[in-house]
Amino acid sequence: MLLEVKHIEKSFEDGVPVIQQASFEVQENEIFALLGPSGCGKTTTLRMIAGFEHADHGEIYLEGELLSSSKVHKAPQKRGIGFVFQDYALFPHMTALDNVAFGLTKLPKFKRKVFAEEVLCRTGMGDHKHKSPAELSGGQQQRVALARAIAPEPKLVLLDEPFSNLDAMLRESTRKEVRSILKKAGMSAVLVTHDQEEALSFADRIAVMNEGRIEQIGLPEEVYYQPKTKFVAQFLGRTNLFEGDVDNCDTIQTKLGCIKLNRSANGRVTCSIRPEHLTIETPNGSSNGYSRGIIIAREFKGHDITYHVECAGERYIIHTDNRIVFEKNDEVVVKPLEAAVVLDNLN
Ligand code: ADP
Ligand code: MG
Repeated sequence: MLLEVKHIEKSFEDGVPVIQQASFEVQENEIFALLGPSGCGKTTTLRMIAGFEHADHGEIYLEGELLSSSKVHKAPQKRGIGFVFQDYALFPHMTALDNVAFGLTKLPKFKRKVFAEEVLCRTGMGDHKHKSPAELSGGQQQRVALARAIAPEPKLVLLDEPFSNLDAMLRESTRKEVRSILKKAGMSAVLVTHDQEEALSFADRIAVMNEGRIEQIGLPEEVYYQPKTKFVAQFLGRTNLFEGDVDNCDTIQTKLGCIKLNRSANGRVTCSIRPEHLTIETPNGSSNGYSRGIIIAREFKGHDITYHVECAGERYIIHTDNRIVFEKNDEVVVKPLEAAVVLDNLN
């Protein structure tokens, strides 16, 4: 294990807890994402790992060495961790090239600029190497900041919303390039983002944060398809939630009909089913047990279609591929393709 964050807690002067009992581990050569809405404590967590903030409680270890506890606080510059700040924080009086070459102290002097240029080229900034930060756009500064953080090949790089200022096309290509640089050099990264698609596609594992707490850690497929809580289900994309009473069994009666659950449950249950795990059909003799609904809206998106269906006063979202074609006001039955996921009741 490379990084271990154990039960960290933090409040600022007003005493309101900003991070509560957060724990996670990052393995060697792993890209780990902290995903959550704005204000949930992602940047604060990253700043504690870097050493710019001191956790009130809990410990942080890097390669087994204690970096932070209630008694210990290793200085940020001694931690050997790369950092891309949300606001880039480039040296304003240096060119892009010098910004990147600056940290390459392990290389002999004559090699530093050559290597810095190579990394700048890989983040698409080779043509701008002689410009100062003031002559670069936000997105260009962001790519220089990325190059500066990864060029010295630290064991761990902390990335705070590092692609937020790039337009869609550039974001995808920069993400791919950065991922390949990290993987090739054997670096690990903690990526902070509020963008679920970015976390799902860039990270090996994801921790989903809500109001200072980590609600779930898992592989992208796990947090998406097996959310543990209502918050995780809703934050990772659109979903359909059902509530009902269950009597020690693995089915639930809903307004759509009887739906299978992913596990047996008892008592009041909330469960989630993704829109692509529902389908719609023309009502016919075999739709026994499933209620009829009406299509109230349709979004055509090329390779797939999103339908909004109203059924017994409730609205449901269904994604189908583009071969399942219905029109607004058509009568349909909604059928589940997969079991609904039972969520933990957090109170
Ligand atoms: P995120 O990066 O997830 O958007 P932050 O970690 O920046 O969230 O902030 C989490 C909470 O901590 C917010 O409510 C924010 O206002 C508060 N906060 C962050 N830094 C400070 C600070 N230096 N002083 C007081 N409150 C802070
Ligand atoms: Mg932030």
